[in-house]
Amino acid sequence: MKTIKQCPICKKIDFKEHINSIDYSVSKEEFTIIKCINCDFHFTNPRPADSELGKYYISDHYISHNNTSKNLFEKTYKFIRNIAIKGKYKLVTSYFKTGSILDIGCGTGEFLNTFKINNWITKGIEPSDIARKQAVENLGLDVDESTDLKNVKGEFDVITMWHVLEHVTELNETIEQLNRLTTKTGKVIIAVPNHKSYDSSFYKKYWAAYDLPIHLYHFSKETIKIIFENHGFSLIKTKGMKFDTFYVSILSEEHKSEKKNFIKATCVGLISNLYGLFTKRGYSSSIYVFEKLK
Ligand SMILES: [Zn+2]
Repeated sequence: MKTIKQCPICKKIDFKEHINSIDYSVSKEEFTIIKCINCDFHFTNPRPADSELGKYYISDHYISHNNTSKNLFEKTYKFIRNIAIKGKYKLVTSYFKTGSILDIGCGTGEFLNTFKINNWITKGIEPSDIARKQAVENLGLDVDESTDLKNVKGEFDVITMWHVLEHVTELNETIEQLNRLTTKTGKVIIAVPNHKSYDSSFYKKYWAAYDLPIHLYHFSKETIKIIFENHGFSLIKTKGMKFDTFYVSILSEEHKSEKKNFIKATCVGLISNLYGLFTKRGYSSSIYVFEKLK
């Protein structure tokens, strides 16, 4: 285990316990999320040592046996994923009609491929062997295995990280590298869960987007803005991920009662999206668009 002594955002050392929850996916071990008293940043502490983190991820072996869309839940998930990809494409192309894009944590590459077929210069990074092989072999994408951004050369008009930043071990170093890898007018687009959302406060320790211990950081609308500002970025747009709310609610219901409870989860999801729309607390997950400070 590794204990973080200084807040990754403000470097202060006074913390308070926020919540205890368990790893529902793999180990069933208990972990604690703490919050910094000074800046309200929430993070998993202590957390597994960097060398131990891999064993908390669902293994490639498991994924390979479950990658066929057999049931309605998985089919719906894939259907929605395609709608989500179109939405993300539209967001990116509202800034650049064409250009270069780096997708960190590109998975099997469906998002990146949308850009490749529209003549963008594309590059992906994906540590999972099975996902990366699918992206390379099925879609012909250029995908690196190493997640160490220091190895990446060049500059990109757009860098995307869809639900990835909460997993990186070196948070400040990663955002520093994002700055180095972005062109002067480039955009960095980040999607992360928001632990201040309604569904988070409803499900508490059962909230699926805590995803302990592999989610090392738990951002809010405020803390994500501060940490990017610390590295020379300014926030130019925030967009709620309304489908994610339902997905997270269904998984949270499963953690709570070992059933999917679609109807109840849908109600919680709807309420959470209304809170996202009409209050300042934000959606279950949000997309944040940053650009470099001039
Ligand atoms: Zn702090």
